[in-house]
Amino acid sequence: MASVDTTAVDSTNGRGAGAEIAVENPATGEVIAHVADLSADRVAELARRGRAAQPGWHALGFDGRARVMLAMRKWLLDNGDRVVATLVSETGKTLEDAWMIEQTYTAGALSFWAKNAERMLADESVAVATLAVKGKKLVTRCEPLGLVGIIGPWNYPIVNSFGDAIPALLAGNSVILKPSEFTPLTSLLMEEGLLECGMPADVFQVATGRGETGAALVDEVDMIMFTGSTATGKKVMARAAETLTPVALELGGKDPMIVLADADVERAANAAVYYSMLNGGQTCISIERVYVEGPIYEDFVQRVVDKVQAIRQGESTAPGTVEVGAMTTAAQLSIVEQHVADAVTKGARALTGGRRRAGKGHFFEPTVLVDVDHSMQAMTEETFGPTLPIMRVEDAEEAVRLANDSPYGLGAAIYTKDVERGQGLARRIEAGAVCVNDALLNYLAVELPMGGWKASGLGSRHGAGGIRKFTKQQSLLTTRFALKREPFMFPYKATTSKLLFKGLRLIYGRGKRGAR
Ligand code: NDP
Repeated sequence: MASVDTTAVDSTNGRGAGAEIAVENPATGEVIAHVADLSADRVAELARRGRAAQPGWHALGFDGRARVMLAMRKWLLDNGDRVVATLVSETGKTLEDAWMIEQTYTAGALSFWAKNAERMLADESVAVATLAVKGKKLVTRCEPLGLVGIIGPWNYPIVNSFGDAIPALLAGNSVILKPSEFTPLTSLLMEEGLLECGMPADVFQVATGRGETGAALVDEVDMIMFTGSTATGKKVMARAAETLTPVALELGGKDPMIVLADADVERAANAAVYYSMLNGGQTCISIERVYVEGPIYEDFVQRVVDKVQAIRQGESTAPGTVEVGAMTTAAQLSIVEQHVADAVTKGARALTGGRRRAGKGHFFEPTVLVDVDHSMQAMTEETFGPTLPIMRVEDAEEAVRLANDSPYGLGAAIYTKDVERGQGLARRIEAGAVCVNDALLNYLAVELPMGGWKASGLGSRHGAGGIRKFTKQQSLLTTRFALKREPFMFPYKATTSKLLFKGLRLIYGRGKRGAR
């Protein structure tokens, strides 16, 4: 059975005695560890240490920093069983979700950023395009921000927390990570791993605590990378405005899947089930609602129901034994219950599941809902649980209209054999990422930007922008060969001024109005 070596997690971790938070295993309800609940003063102290450590870390250069991060990649796999056991114990997710998503993503991300950080942050020459600077050398360059604060959610304690620390650190910043109060143990393990891999002290620190600890962190850092709910993201942005601290926000979603009549129904059904129930449906880019064209609706629903009925649910203690684990928090379980109850009250039918499981742990049975519409919370609000509401639509136009009928715009998926048509429809979906004949996989492509539109976020992670956002840009203009005095400088003389005005008209004033 997977177990957590809680002795390996120093609950105070040098943070001093004080209030503590009990960490529970959501699949069993057992308390598995205690961590410090850091006050604002303690966060300020971590920030002082982080700032003091940053110049030395930056001075190591890209190669020195990459060496530590690549050592961390090996550490992650050498300590894979312990990392996965910790993840499973504090989230209730399955061993497969921990290995195949958290470990795969993180090993890939450590490789990608270690190999590409230097190129993505290298000085860039800018071609001169304006008359006023003809003959000058123009360069843009990146400088680390200093101290970056990362606030993460509980659903993927490595991917959505430590995952952002990787580019922030490789850019030369020190980092303070505030994990969710429900899942702090994995972040503490990452801190331990980095120290073993040669990371200088205080460059990467974990500030365990509740929401107040996160709020205090916002006041201390040079930039906040926040992943979590839209409601908390707004609070973080408002607080950051007080100190003009830049923020990047990765927020909630209500991702639609569209299945057109010509789709490979079996592939679409498998994808709908997997990508809605993966990680117990607690994925920001989970498939949260499906729109299916009439001619294949019955066939699609039947296949989905057969597959969901075959899902095994429970505590994940050995590989290959359960597909869906626990809900990580009791509060999230109540939201899922509420959305299903609201849908059923308004006329929906639950073809599978539809209720929380009796007994220990936070489990909601995998649930397929039909006869749904947009009057129901299950179709309009983020459910974040193992539910799959399916709606019949007349045609692709109706599907696109309903897909866009949402305050969110994180991801979407379209299934069709006509790939060109699928790509055309994808361009009309209001979402930061759209997959054709796939779903969610875009997240593992660290080379591809990922960020939400509308209420799903601000800015993005991954791609070149995913590391440049952890830097401040400097523009360098250099003049090598020049006159003692430029003609436009003081003192102004009538003849020179008139000549300059005439020159301006000659260069920019020719041709017809509106011509390029
Ligand atoms: P929350 O917004 O509740 O919490 C996120 C983090 O913010 C936690 O560490 C929380 O601490 C902290 N926090 C709470 N209040 C404050 C505050 N006032 N100031 C600063 N920090 C604060 O989100 P969840 O943890 O419930 O995560 C689920 C949400 O995350 C879903 O909406 C999901 O869609 C979204 N998400 C988005 C992703 C994306 O890439 N777009 C990826 C993954 C998840 P504590 O937990 O201790 O209260």
